[in-house]
Amino acid sequence: MSVRRYNALNLFRQGRRGQRDWAPAWRLPEPKPAYDAVIVGGGGHGLATAYYLAKNHGIRNVAVLEKGWLGGGNTGRNTTIVRSNYFWPESAALYDLALRLYEGLSEDLNFNIMLSQRGMMILAHSEPELDMMKRSANAMQLNGIDCDILTEAEVRNRVPLLQMERYEIWGALVQHRAGVARHDAVAWGFARGADRLGVDIIQNCEVTGFQTHGNRVTAVETTRGTIGCGVVGLTAAGHQNLLTQKLGFRLPLLSYCLQAMVSEAIKPVLDTVILSPAVGTYVSQSAKGSLVFGAGLDLYPSYAQRGNFPTTQKIVAGLVEMFPSFARLKVLRQWGGNVDVAPDSSPIIGPTPVENVHLDCGWGTGGFKAIPGGGWLLAHCLATGGHHPISAPFDLKRFAEGRLIDEGAAAGIAH
Ligand SMILES: Cc1cc2nc3c(=O)[nH]c(=O)nc-3n(C[C@H](O)[C@H](O)[C@H](O)COP(=O)(O)OP(=O)(O)OC[C@H]3O[C@@H](n4cnc5c(N)ncnc54)[C@H](O)[C@@H]3O)c2cc1C
Repeated sequence: MSVRRYNALNLFRQGRRGQRDWAPAWRLPEPKPAYDAVIVGGGGHGLATAYYLAKNHGIRNVAVLEKGWLGGGNTGRNTTIVRSNYFWPESAALYDLALRLYEGLSEDLNFNIMLSQRGMMILAHSEPELDMMKRSANAMQLNGIDCDILTEAEVRNRVPLLQMERYEIWGALVQHRAGVARHDAVAWGFARGADRLGVDIIQNCEVTGFQTHGNRVTAVETTRGTIGCGVVGLTAAGHQNLLTQKLGFRLPLLSYCLQAMVSEAIKPVLDTVILSPAVGTYVSQSAKGSLVFGAGLDLYPSYAQRGNFPTTQKIVAGLVEMFPSFARLKVLRQWGGNVDVAPDSSPIIGPTPVENVHLDCGWGTGGFKAIPGGGWLLAHCLATGGHHPISAPFDLKRFAEGRLIDEGAAAGIAH
């Protein structure tokens, strides 16, 4: 018997049978000759796009083509922070759509994404910084985003181990609905959900070129053969420009390595996410007990996935500056991902100069939190050929028209 649905009764039954009858979470199909929609990139955004194409728009003849393994790009390498406290109304609408979808995602996908809304605080280290934060908080509240300013005493009370000596703490901006979710589970949950609706998820399948007729793509060339397509969604993050160059246009994106690391596991000591702009480091504690921490981009654009050593040192130094007692911990792992950064630190969603090709990219250091929203919106574009009102401001044309949505201050540090 194969059991697809995860619930207490099935867990109990499987326990009695030695867990032998679970069906694979998704199939491993051979590519078909053609699909109505082909999504390039099996990260969170690609998988979410496929899921919502099938679920919201009834388009099920869909393939997700991934050159490696699912979530092996940035989706499986990030520090799992979700939040929606962005400054501009356009961004607030976009990231809060994603956060609201995250809030119902475990139930929707029947897969526990381990969303933990433990709040996130960004420290202010001087009076002017606190004043700027109050301005941001006002803007966010006007945009309908829950956020507050904490006093120094409230910060110290919430995070007693925080003992910064060289930097004063004046307060913090906090979003209580922010938090963390398990990154692998988000990829696996969307993959399982999309597969259940008929989507083919094809791994080890790199897209190497496109066949075109007029101003349309008719097929994608891959390491597993040529696959015909009706519409194409490009969700390849740091490698997006390598794909669009094959279609004859470049995106205003630079690819950088972004690093993170985890410590050995310890007992619970930190029940929120905390970031210090002064030292550039942010940290949370995972469900397993490891501290998960990172900082800003590496020093220069590259396709590397290891990271510059000076940045590694800066991250650790920042952590120890915030929490001197963490100096006694061992670092378990360090890694890097390849993120795609736009000049205004906002994503690019929607149509391209090629008629049936749409984009979802440019998420830079902060696209994990956006996965359900990005997928929802790209699915809308692919299904209708036009924008959802929330994605319209993030169109590629904004760079030519001078309509930048500058979120540099919100996305300058990786989170
Ligand atoms: C260290 C680090 C920490 C981060 N922390 C956070 C955080 O805390 N919160 C947050 O919101 N965001 C964070 N991010 C950013 C976030 O991880 C990304 O913005 C997000 O995962 C992007 O998802 P994606 O699906 O667009 O890209 P990816 O997950 O990178 O997926 C793109 C996929 O495309 C595939 N691909 C590329 N080229 C091809 C091709 N030619 N053919 C087929 N497949 C191809 C790749 O193999 C990859 O799997 C962090 C990133 C890193 C690296």
